Amino acid sequence: MKKNYDVVIVGSGIAGLYTALNLSPRLQVLLVSKRELTLNNSSLAQGGVASVLDTVHDSKEAHFRDTMIAGGQKNNPDAVRILVEEGPDDVRKIMEYGVEFDKTPDGKLHYTLEGGHSKPRIVHHKDATGREIVEKLLLQVKKLPNVEIMEHTLTACVKKGKDFHFDLIRGEEHFHVNSHFCMMASGGIGRVYEYTTNSKIATGDGIAFAYEMGAKIKNLHYIQFHPTGFANKLTRETFLISESVRGEGAYLLNCHGERFMQKYDSRLELAPRDVVSHFIMKEEKATGSNEFFLDISYKDPEFIKNRFPMIYQNLLKEGIDMTKDKIPVYPCHHYLMGGIDVDLNGKTSIDRLYAAGECSHTGVHGNNRLASNSLLEGLVFSRRAAKEINRLSDLFDQEFEEGSFPEDRYTEPCPHGFRTETRNIMQRAYFVNPNLEEARKGFEEIKRFQQLLENGHYRLDMDYVEAKSLTTVAYIILKEVLTGQDETVK
Ligand SMILES: Cc1cc2nc3c(=O)[nH]c(=O)nc-3n(C[C@H](O)[C@H](O)[C@H](O)COP(=O)(O)OP(=O)(O)OC[C@H]3O[C@@H](n4cnc5c(N)ncnc54)[C@H](O)[C@@H]3O)c2cc1C
Repeated sequence: MKKNYDVVIVGSGIAGLYTALNLSPRLQVLLVSKRELTLNNSSLAQGGVASVLDTVHDSKEAHFRDTMIAGGQKNNPDAVRILVEEGPDDVRKIMEYGVEFDKTPDGKLHYTLEGGHSKPRIVHHKDATGREIVEKLLLQVKKLPNVEIMEHTLTACVKKGKDFHFDLIRGEEHFHVNSHFCMMASGGIGRVYEYTTNSKIATGDGIAFAYEMGAKIKNLHYIQFHPTGFANKLTRETFLISESVRGEGAYLLNCHGERFMQKYDSRLELAPRDVVSHFIMKEEKATGSNEFFLDISYKDPEFIKNRFPMIYQNLLKEGIDMTKDKIPVYPCHHYLMGGIDVDLNGKTSIDRLYAAGECSHTGVHGNNRLASNSLLEGLVFSRRAAKEINRLSDLFDQEFEEGSFPEDRYTEPCPHGFRTETRNIMQRAYFVNPNLEEARKGFEEIKRFQQLLENGHYRLDMDYVEAKSLTTVAYIILKEVLTGQDETVK
């Protein structure tokens, strides 16, 4: 391992990997992942990637329109235009890298439909699209001689002066490295909630690091609650029952086994996610029961097993056969639309700090992401950021500043409980709809946690970094909810 790199990429999801693939081979790059390289939200993506590859039956204009409607017209139209115009080439590019999408019997790409899309335009690899993409892109990144990869390596990052300084912690080992550029591709914040579809890594670390550096954070309360997480009665670990199950015709039923979306929205089960989640909560009030189900058992069992092999298997493990049984579902946290604010080239408000993927706020999603637009966003804007870094890295001297890392490290372990308590607070304060009274109480409690963590002199490890990240994220979300401000700078 070197001491100095041109670029450090935090994250091995779609945004981190595609950044690495688009950086110039003359740049020395380090890519880090705090757990296994494939443990991230990207690998969990089921539904697919939305993009208009077939301009005969579909149009980029329609994709633009659908994205803006789902986002409540709160999207940045320039970013959406770039997404829909440039996205198809990135999808073709990853197919060149070996990513395989499902085909129809006559060998053409199979396009599926998800909520909010006016045309079937989503390419997918059965129901495990993200895993296919991450595995194939990772194979390509591993071939790059200029990119070093560190797995199971927790990063904490600061910027003092021009350059970035990283603490890297791998088991008992502790390293320091510097870089001229930093790409945050550190993913979402799902673990700030009790009920989430997100991977364990989704604790908002990159957002917290950027906030500490003084970067502008935007719309962190723009959170998508998915209507159909598997309602696991035994543990809080949930998994997603993809929107494409409804896309393929599944009915959403209340506790009486009745469809109810017709009471609320003419788009029925395929209304955008926030709308369906919202009406589930309304129906819960109407029936007095939190029991909801998806039912696709009227379809051919072979079709179901072949179209949704991963969901089918996951459900079987829970004792549910989706070809015969109704699937218990309930809303859960799913996706973050806000994040570290970036321009159209992924640049944050901090010099040479870039962000892409779920930790970033490009404005593409408005206040609600259109299904399957996030993998596409990860591709398009990480590529643009990488190109910008390539261009800028030619323009300044290559001398590195030495980082000032404290020699005497604290050794006391961070007490347990901060993460769990933060989750409980967020679940009460802002789940689908904000509860202002709980938000007020929770905000005071979170500020207290932050002080304890700040003054506690705790060892730099996973417990401490994640506790700090989750409390920072919760602080910003609740502040936005309570003040109505959409931007936060430390
Ligand atoms: C269940 C599920 C299904 C989804 N389905 C779809 C879909 O069908 N279509 C779609 O478009 N989107 C989907 N999404 C959303 C999409 O998968 C994500 O938004 C996207 O993949 C995020 O990619 P990313 O690269 O930004 O982050 P991630 O893929 O989450 O990667 C983050 C990386 O950052 C690393 N990291 C974080 N903090 C640190 C740290 N402190 N030190 C070192 N490394 C760190 C992690 O280890 C990880 O490697 C889905 C999401 C989920 C959870």
